Amino acid sequence: MAEPIRAVKGMNDILPPGVPRTEKLPDSALWQWFETTVRSVLARYGYQNLLTPIVEPTALFVRGLGEVTDIVEKEMYSFVDSMNGDKLTLRPEATAGIVRAMIEHNALYNGPLRIWTMGPMFRHERPQKGRYRQFHQLDVEALGYAGPDVDAEMILMVRSLWRELGLVEGKHVRLELNSLGQPDERRAHRDALVRYFEQNATQLDADAQRRLHSNPLRILDTKNPAMQGLVEAAPTLMDFLGEGSLAHFNAVRSVLDMAGLEYRVNTRLVRGMDYYNLTVFEWVTDQLGSQGTVCGGGRYDGLIEQLGGKPAPAVGFGLGIERLLLLIQELALPVPAASPRAYAVITSPSAVPQAMATLETLRAAGLAVLMHAGGGSMKSQFKRADASGARYALIFGDDEVARGEVALKDLRQADAPQRSLPLAGAALWAAELDERATPAAARVLNA
Ligand code: ATP
Ligand code: MG
Repeated sequence: MAEPIRAVKGMNDILPPGVPRTEKLPDSALWQWFETTVRSVLARYGYQNLLTPIVEPTALFVRGLGEVTDIVEKEMYSFVDSMNGDKLTLRPEATAGIVRAMIEHNALYNGPLRIWTMGPMFRHERPQKGRYRQFHQLDVEALGYAGPDVDAEMILMVRSLWRELGLVEGKHVRLELNSLGQPDERRAHRDALVRYFEQNATQLDADAQRRLHSNPLRILDTKNPAMQGLVEAAPTLMDFLGEGSLAHFNAVRSVLDMAGLEYRVNTRLVRGMDYYNLTVFEWVTDQLGSQGTVCGGGRYDGLIEQLGGKPAPAVGFGLGIERLLLLIQELALPVPAASPRAYAVITSPSAVPQAMATLETLRAAGLAVLMHAGGGSMKSQFKRADASGARYALIFGDDEVARGEVALKDLRQADAPQRSLPLAGAALWAAELDERATPAAARVLNA
């Protein structure tokens, strides 16, 4: 046998349920349910879908995210296109690409836009639970809106997504909120920070020493436990915020307060990218160890201009789909099963054409019917029917088909009598087998 080829390290297959997996990753049914729920929630808030390429010019991320960020410094999958020498990068995040597209198509010409996208991102990190080299994000951006109303709406939208998914805010996921102010306020704070860290230089680790003059704010984001005390006592940006920034922050808070959403103001909260200002937030959980941030975002009023567009404010967030689904698995939240409604048991090869013609009619009427392909004993077919989670078995035997009928058995109600249904009327009784049957159709059958 030939040597099998394996997937790239840190890049995972999302497998259908029932396929055994080595990694404790969510299956594709959970994934589908998440996507359906997301689409429904986003539509209620008027967000529209945008798809951008997975590969972008490297310069986009260097200019967009900032040169002294973890992503640009060490996590990007960058390569030279061997055909023409172009410097390209697999997108490590979605915002820069979305902003590029908006500028390229002059998309804000007719006014602001609410946009979302979903798909793979790539970062060269050490793979572990909740951290992969290819991972997936839901990314949501409100472009051309100055807020603070939209900032709050976005946060409330995430809460409503949690609720649809069965997650309880405050218990399973908590909101942390901060304001990063404006560039001049950050400069004043930065100067104070550099002074503070210089005075305590002996306590800085190598990473922090390197960042002291290039990006001291990122020192606050350290995961080094030995530096926590130092970081906690550092001057906070909140003390340097002017009237406008404070008013913006308080306006976001008022909406959240009125909506009954609890949050913690975390003055230490900074985000991994340089482009943020004013509102920043993270939804965190205690259940996933150090991979505890499931969703993070904030305002980035300078980015569109920085990437060559007409100045326009914007706010957005990214949600890590693997992390979120791991959390849902960990909490064993009830997830609706994606079972077929009916399972077709076909006991004789000669019944196959008639059976399959009928199944086509049922499916055209909207019914999800799984056919037992490949034959086998009645017993083994019923075993499969049961395992499929289907409510009904449709039994196509030689005798039934010869009479122009199919037998219907309720798999979930043992005492329900088996019934015969006419093959010719399948379009009519299809509706009865489905919970979403229209009352009129159901009446035909119950008569
Ligand atoms: P972290 O601090 O955990 O590295 P981050 O600040 O780099 O996260 P963002 O760039 O804000 O993450 O991305 C938004 C979300 O995407 C994160 O909150 C997380 O849920 C998810 N995410 C980021 N990197 C990864 C990864 N390597 N694997 C899986 N999910 C990720
Ligand atoms: Mg990271």
